[in-house]
Formats: sequence, structure tokens, C-alpha cells
Amino acid sequence: SVCAPLPVLGRDVRVPLVTGGEVDYAALDYAASAPALQRVWDDVAAYAPYYGSVHRGAGYLSQLSTDLFENSRRTIAEFLGCRTDDQVVFTRSTTDSLNLLAAVLPQDTRVFVFETEHHASLLPWEQRGDAKGGAVTYLNAPRTPGEAVDTLEKALAAREPYGPALVCVTGASNVTGELWPVRELAAAAHAHGARIVLDAAQLAPHHPVDIAELDVDWVAFSGHKLYAPFGAGVLAGRADWLQDAEPYLAGGGASRKVSRRTDGGVDVEWHTTAARHEAGSPNVIGAYSIAAACRALTEAGFDDLVAREQALIARVRAGLAEVPEVNVLSLFGDDAPRVGVISFVVEGWNSSHFAAALSAEYGIGVRDGLFCAHPLVRTLLGSDPQTQGECGAPEAAPGEKSLNAIRVSFGAGTPDEHVERFVNAVK
Ligand code: PMP
Repeated sequence: SVCAPLPVLGRDVRVPLVTGGEVDYAALDYAASAPALQRVWDDVAAYAPYYGSVHRGAGYLSQLSTDLFENSRRTIAEFLGCRTDDQVVFTRSTTDSLNLLAAVLPQDTRVFVFETEHHASLLPWEQRGDAKGGAVTYLNAPRTPGEAVDTLEKALAAREPYGPALVCVTGASNVTGELWPVRELAAAAHAHGARIVLDAAQLAPHHPVDIAELDVDWVAFSGHKLYAPFGAGVLAGRADWLQDAEPYLAGGGASRKVSRRTDGGVDVEWHTTAARHEAGSPNVIGAYSIAAACRALTEAGFDDLVAREQALIARVRAGLAEVPEVNVLSLFGDDAPRVGVISFVVEGWNSSHFAAALSAEYGIGVRDGLFCAHPLVRTLLGSDPQTQGECGAPEAAPGEKSLNAIRVSFGAGTPDEHVERFVNAVK
């Protein structure tokens, strides 16, 4: 049996249609940002009157907020199946989490990353790592999960057998929704003395992520994709690289002791807990909301959520398959396990116009573009890797090959009717 959708905010939003009248808004862009679960909103609303600054205040609300903030860390650690010596660092988002990890890489770390990654997991390494003498190896798009493992194996085997190495891989693609063979990639990384970070931005909202069971070293994800859109994210995992490095931000909260030296300078002792990388007043509500989402999803049960989502995926894919002009983008093929993220192009249609029509005529919110994964989308569309398509660029002229795609994505709050409306609209 398939469970009902979880209650989310925004279900009562009505939007006007160009064809006249109005309709309830069908939010089918969960991969960008998912609506808040009602449970998360209720928890946040119940806590908000008691909000106070954490860690340093002696007053009641400050103490309460400190407890809730640190309990949130524990809830998230439990949700992720963290090992006892892992740390949960609060960040702004997945992008921020991966930039933090890039900033703490040991000297001369070589990073291995598939070209198919979201820009958040593709770009921070060279941006931050190169300055410290590290380097990045970009791996070509594999066409099967097995090829992904082989490609990584070969690249790791070919590296100089010394120095630290890091593999960065997505759990579920934000373009195709396809699951990547994380456990196998982690085993390959570790067999070659490398570490691995999992970009779980698209995986965590749809699947349980168990850091110990997957045997990854770090996990990064964003609250706003996990039904907790209050501006926080998480980097969880191994403490050593985090604690051996300089703080991500210098300031209060990260420093344990600051004193003037006899030569007039300043000496700083930094914290060796997660606080080392959380300088400044943290986003307590954001952290609390992520913990609330972890509790709500755990209570709802991933088995039921996955079963429901897989039924919606099957409905959308079957509907799209009935339209000969529709081409669904896929790296690993029809049988690949996937989450509710589906990108496609429609022959004879400009993708941006198509997405605009879904909004104006049917009240459906999807996304068009290259989804911050330019190399992957170009590979999938077979377009020129150098010159074509960029964010905000005009789409292909009528009759030309599409440079952009349309993405529909959904999750725990999506009612059947939204998916039916989408399929009918495309038809
Ligand atoms: N990784 C993946 C796979 C994503 O889909 C996204 C968001 N689209 C990100 C990273 C970045 O997340 P954020 O914008 O919350 O930093």
C-alpha cells in the first residue's frame, strides 16, 4: 500500500491561469527547494518565541536555545548514522558544506570528481584546492554505474601513490535523478587510500543516508531540499581534517582563547569541536528545522515514502513515454534506480517556453535550464561542450537541437493530482 503525501506548506496557494480562472499551485520543483513539511513548520513555530543566542548567554532563553541547537546536532548525527567520532557542522547549504571541506583539505590533496556533478560539488576543489598546491582530476561521464566504479578505480590507481586524496560524488543526480553506486565508489576510494565525500543534496530527501553503512567519510546536504527551508545545511563526518585545519571563518564562537602576545600580536586557541568552523552567531532556527525534518521523515518512515515516490516516478515516466516528441535524459538507462527528479526535452519545443507554458496554462512549477550541471546536461543533450548554452542564455531556435532541458521533481508532499496534471499538460 502507498501512504498519503505528507502535509506541506503551500498546498493552499492559488495561481491565476492565462486561460482564465485559477488553480492550486502544483510545486514540481522539489529538486530546487522543497516546501516545508507542516511538522517542521509547527516545530519551528513552537520554538520561535523561545529563540535566543546560543552558547554565550547566561539567561534562560539562551540556555534553552543552546540545548536545542546541540540536541539538533545529535538528532542529525543519528539520522545520518554517524560514527562516534564524526562531527556535524552546521553550514548555510550543500554549497557551503563542500566549500568548507575544500578549505580544510590537507596540503597537496588530489581531488577526483566526475564531470557530471552539480557545480556545488564540481567547482570548490579547484577554486580553493589549487591555491594550496592540490589538483583536481575530472573524470568523464560514465554510462553505467559499473563504468563509474571502473573509471574511478583506474584514475586512483594511476595517481602518485602518496599524498592525500579525496573523491567527491553525488548520491542522486539533480538532473537525471539516477542513483550513483556510492558504496562501491567508497570502497574503491578507500582501497586506494583516498577519502570520499557524498553530496547528498538530492539523496537525503528521498532515501535514508547512513554514513557508516555507505562507508563515506563525509556527507553534505541542504535543509531547503529536505523540507526545512530555513537557510541551514550540514557537513557531517570525519573530525580529523576538519580539526587539523584553520577555521573556515575566523571570529567569535570558533575561538576558545584569545590573548595578546608580549610582541604585541594576538594568539588564538581555536575550538576542536564543530564550533571551530561555525564562527559568528549560528542559524539556530535553521539547524533546529533540519533536526525537525529528520524526526518527521524518520517517523513517516522511508519505506513508505520511497514506495509512494516510486509510484509517482512510474506514473510520470509512463506518461512521458506516451509522447513521442519527449526525450527523457538519462546516463544509466531506463532500469537505473532513481529518485523523483526527471529531466527531458520536447522535440520542436523551446524548453523555456515549454516550462513557461506549464506555469501559465496549468499552474505547474517546473524548472528549465542546465540545472547548475552544465557539463552533464551538455553531454546528455549531445551539444557542443565548449560554446553552447549557459545560464540565462537564449534557447535554441525553432528546429534546432535543444540547449536546455525541462526538469520535473517531486517528493514526500506531492499529491497524485499534481503529477496527473503534469502528465496531461505535457500530452
Ligand atoms: N548538489 C546537488 C546535487 C544539488 O542538486 C544542489 C542544489 N541544486 C546542490 C548540490 C547545491 O545545494 P545548495 O544550493 O543548497 O547549496
